[in-house]
Amino acid sequence: MTHDPNCIFCRIVKGELPAKRIHEDDEFIVFPDIHPAAPVHLLMVPKEHFATLADAQAKHEELLGRMLLLAPRLAREQGATNGYRVVINNGPDGGQEVYHLHVHVLGGARPWKRL
Ligand code: AMP
Ligand code: ZN
Repeated sequence: MTHDPNCIFCRIVKGELPAKRIHEDDEFIVFPDIHPAAPVHLLMVPKEHFATLADAQAKHEELLGRMLLLAPRLAREQGATNGYRVVINNGPDGGQEVYHLHVHVLGGARPWKRL
């Protein structure tokens, strides 16, 4: 499995940086965003390092599907009982800051601009 020693999410996956793990399995972990943009703001982070959706490969199909399928339950359990957003930022114009693919789950309020 690929890791990048300079990547903040790889360091969280390895336990070198702290995070409150809400979920962990063999393929990904979930923890709260350190700067929440909503009352519920979770990050779903693959254990393998790849930067963006464009870097995902066929072997990641199940991982990506499993993350999306788990999002509703985690959102509900964490208090987003009236809906939530599932967001993957990609590249500079996608507002991506951490280049280790991750899924944002945001809910508990509706502070967004309509898409
Ligand atoms: P993105 O803009 O999609 O790359 O989002 C990166 C997210 O990671 C931001 O919302 C940050 O607040 C969050 N983040 C950065 N460092 C940490 C950390 N150590 N623990 C939890 N969340 C973090
Ligand atoms: Zn990484």
